[in-house]
Amino acid sequence: MAAESSAVQGGRRRHVLLFPLPYQGHINPMFRLASLLHARGFAVTVFHTHFNAPDPARHPQYRFVPVPDGTSGPPPVAIEDVVAQILALAAACEPAFRDRLAAVLEEYSRDAVACLIADAQLLPIFEVATKLAVPTLALRTGSAACFKCFAAYPLLCEKGYLPVKESQRDMPVSELPPYRVRDLIGLGDDSCGAGRELLARAVTAVKVSSGLILNTFDALERRELEDLRRDLAVPVFDIGPLHKFSPAGDSSLLRQDRSCLEWLEARPPASVLYASFGSLACMSQRDLEETAWGIAGSGVPFLWVVRPGMVRGSAHQVLPEGFEAATRGRGMVMSWAPQEEVLRHRAVGGFWTHNGWNSTMESVCEGVPMLCRTYFGDQMGNARYVEHVWSVGFEVGGELERGAVEAAIRRLMTGEDGAEMRARAGELKKAAEECTGKGGSSCLAIDKLVAHMMSL
Ligand code: UDP
Repeated sequence: MAAESSAVQGGRRRHVLLFPLPYQGHINPMFRLASLLHARGFAVTVFHTHFNAPDPARHPQYRFVPVPDGTSGPPPVAIEDVVAQILALAAACEPAFRDRLAAVLEEYSRDAVACLIADAQLLPIFEVATKLAVPTLALRTGSAACFKCFAAYPLLCEKGYLPVKESQRDMPVSELPPYRVRDLIGLGDDSCGAGRELLARAVTAVKVSSGLILNTFDALERRELEDLRRDLAVPVFDIGPLHKFSPAGDSSLLRQDRSCLEWLEARPPASVLYASFGSLACMSQRDLEETAWGIAGSGVPFLWVVRPGMVRGSAHQVLPEGFEAATRGRGMVMSWAPQEEVLRHRAVGGFWTHNGWNSTMESVCEGVPMLCRTYFGDQMGNARYVEHVWSVGFEVGGELERGAVEAAIRRLMTGEDGAEMRARAGELKKAAEECTGKGGSSCLAIDKLVAHMMSL
């Protein structure tokens, strides 16, 4: 088993090179991994795009190498735009990355570099590294179940599950339980075109790499991890929840409003609903209004993140007139929260989430049950696990109506089954603590990962 000092060889620190995909939900886990590997003795170099570039001043311990990405234009709104942007970014970075990687290898000397860890969505980056004889590892920032779905995608298209037909939405996918058709990766109308290409590239990136790193843990996804280990020729390292291994907040692209933590201090235990839909999901003005009136009508204290650009077609979303007066003293609306700390706060009793994988993990690890309202990508599949596998939340589906929102919030926060979900979430929190504690499965996987990196 690797010792902590094993990243130092012959008195010299080995280097690890990182390349995150430039979205919040991908940057956070990559920076957590950076921190973890740095603590194990690796010198860290982060290659990054200009789009959503990290702030080097917040990470003085790492070296940063910008890679021109040739992108311009507004941030993506629909999933199709995100897919197109990822494919364009990866292609545009390739030539510049080749030059910068070659320069870094010359500077550090090839032997001093252990490997490159890149986001699995960046296949061209893996190909460049392989051509320059740099071993690679792939970081997938979603669940193990989600990666299984990526790998099964061509089969699902061939068998006619995809693109999703309205009449088949509730049909079970017998090849991929517990998913139904509507839980499969949502890539918009182009699910068998550019979206399929994106997933296929991620699977290829993992296959050409020397290993797959997943931000999940054994007690949460044992069966899915076993399936991946059976099906993949490369080792799988389940080292999550990554945010439990290093401090919060240092990779946020938006400024976090920390005043909400003070506000939470005055609230009774498990009394507050925290509502946030991550960094990319967008809703209509109508849905914003139904959400607002549902929250107001529930009578439950709340913290609500209304991110700039969250409402489709308007840079400055406006809450409905009268909402502030109706909820005064009972809630707080902010543009970005220190989410991990909010979820950890004893006053928070429920999370209305879009079920991005990071948000789902952060909620599970703090024992907070969830109201699930999903938008695209892996979110539906994550919500399926929340409701039907772990029983720590339930979906608010269909057309959003204030009455249904009110009822769902009350059920989660004050209902009997809400309390049962909270109790089960508490058990998952304990399981996560055991995995990250001394001798726990994730700690052992980190040791194996470090040993593997040193052997490449
Ligand atoms: N987040 C945050 N403040 C917020 C909302 C989200 O810091 O107000 C963080 C959250 O803790 C998570 C990430 O942003 O780590 C969002 O990732 P996720 O996978 O949940 O969703 P995505 O943004 O990729 O859809």
